[in-house]
Amino acid sequence: MNILWFRRGLRLHDNPALLSAIENSKEFLALYIFDTTFQDAGYKPYHMYGFLLECLNDLNESFQSVGTKLHIFQGCPLEVFRHLRQSHCINKLCFIQDCEPIWHERDNAVKNLCLELDIEVYEHVAHTLWDPMDIIASNGGTPPLTYEMFVHVAMSVGDPPKPAADPEWKGVKFVSIEPFETNRFTLFDGVPTLGAVGVPENPVGCRNRKIIGGETNALKHFEIRLRAEETAFRSGFYQPNQARPDLLGPPLSLSAAISVGAMSVRLFYWKIHELFDKVNKGSPPAWLGITGQIIWRDYFYAMSRMNPKFDKEVDNPICLQIPWNENEELFEKWKNGQTGYPFIDAGMRQLNQEGWMHHSVRNAVAMFLTRGDLWLNWDIGAEYMAYQLVDSDWSVNSGNWMWVSSSAFERLLDCSVCINSVLYGKRLEPSGDYIRRYVPELANFEFEYIHEPWKAPIDIQRAANCIIGKDYPTRIVIHEEVLTRNQTWMKDFRRKFKETPAHCQPSSNSEVYKFFCLPDDSLPF
Ligand code: FAD
Repeated sequence: MNILWFRRGLRLHDNPALLSAIENSKEFLALYIFDTTFQDAGYKPYHMYGFLLECLNDLNESFQSVGTKLHIFQGCPLEVFRHLRQSHCINKLCFIQDCEPIWHERDNAVKNLCLELDIEVYEHVAHTLWDPMDIIASNGGTPPLTYEMFVHVAMSVGDPPKPAADPEWKGVKFVSIEPFETNRFTLFDGVPTLGAVGVPENPVGCRNRKIIGGETNALKHFEIRLRAEETAFRSGFYQPNQARPDLLGPPLSLSAAISVGAMSVRLFYWKIHELFDKVNKGSPPAWLGITGQIIWRDYFYAMSRMNPKFDKEVDNPICLQIPWNENEELFEKWKNGQTGYPFIDAGMRQLNQEGWMHHSVRNAVAMFLTRGDLWLNWDIGAEYMAYQLVDSDWSVNSGNWMWVSSSAFERLLDCSVCINSVLYGKRLEPSGDYIRRYVPELANFEFEYIHEPWKAPIDIQRAANCIIGKDYPTRIVIHEEVLTRNQTWMKDFRRKFKETPAHCQPSSNSEVYKFFCLPDDSLPF
């Protein structure tokens, strides 16, 4: 029997592990395991788990349509495979690679068990465009430290592989196991509920998530996305989701499907390139970056590949150890959308209610928490956002937070480049309807004051039924004041950092120190 073990890669399209598992039409069994051993059992984010269960349900329906099912277990993966080995002769265990360090303990334990039980392991790279180890090997054994260097190295490695063929089910013998329970794991009868996998049903404040899971939904959504891309190409621009951010419409994003692998990054990349070729009669130059965002994703995966501390500041070799403040009260107000800055509060409340916010809003709230306003550590914000986001992704979330807080990836920080959430909000969503939707206390303010209600005279506040300081918080900081403070702190820190000789630097700063002190002309980009 060949086993296909779904972890991410929750799709039948572009799934080389699936093709491995059904080749030679051996007996075939597909399974998913809610892992209670290697994963943090308490870490069960509501939005992400709701989306995950929809993906598993869609996958199960796809398997039912060809005469089998997705077996969903909960427990220790080692116990599940050991049990299956007792009742079946297992030839192969096939899966798509999870390359981040957080999965290494689990996968090494399973590979060792397979060695002991004489089961062949087939691990396929398909969650990223390139194999991060190929990028690292081509860059002399360390990940490229800037995005530009990454693109240069990736181009030297070559184009990402094209998507794998669709599965041929003819002749495949399906194995089906009836639900059962032991004291070490459970095989569910079908797809479990949130409650069955330990996630509180509908916690307070969570409204309906707008991004629905499943490969079928993702591929339908991708068709709509491709039409938007074609319109953009014909109008002379690209990356429509970023070029023309829409904060009010249903998200046109596929990042949640990509984060669990219900949508193939390689299909995404190649379909957009083929479309560009069709519209422009020729391939785009590498620098044009029509799929730049998905390449940023691969860049962060390469950066995190050998760095188990990638999601933290302390002991993270590529991250500046910036002396951030600690202030639990300010952090709570940021998390709960109670900062007194309407655009920031709208973003955080949307995140808490729906598990989603547009990339532009993520930039704003992350900058506000770190070097823009509150001067708090990026990694506490990253941890909170990772828990709330429906597209939560360890490498991508951590990488973006380090990038926005200027803790890594770039050296020549122009400290004056900082988001003013009032001006940024006015530019991104001039009508104020985004704020009205998520900060209803302010709904009666006209455009003139809705982004900065503290400026409204008291009679306007009374007319809007919202007295600042009573019905809606006063600002927890004054942006113009803290910005000047933060810029001074950042400049002083980076100057002292560069002046401190290498042997006096904390060892964890080794990589980032080397990078920062490279002579400007030595960086090819
Ligand atoms: P598109 O423009 O359509 O991009 C296509 C795909 O590229 C996306 O679906 C996504 O997979 C990837 N992508 C897009 N932007 C980025 C980026 N800046 N970095 C890396 N990959 C990107 N994205 C996540 O998938 N999971 C996260 O946990 C996450 N946390 C973030 C935290 C912060 C503070 C910031 C600033 C960004 C974060 N992002 C994260 C990246 C980005 O915001 C989302 O991927 C984006 O909102 C998805 O929108 P889209 O699908 O319309 O992007």
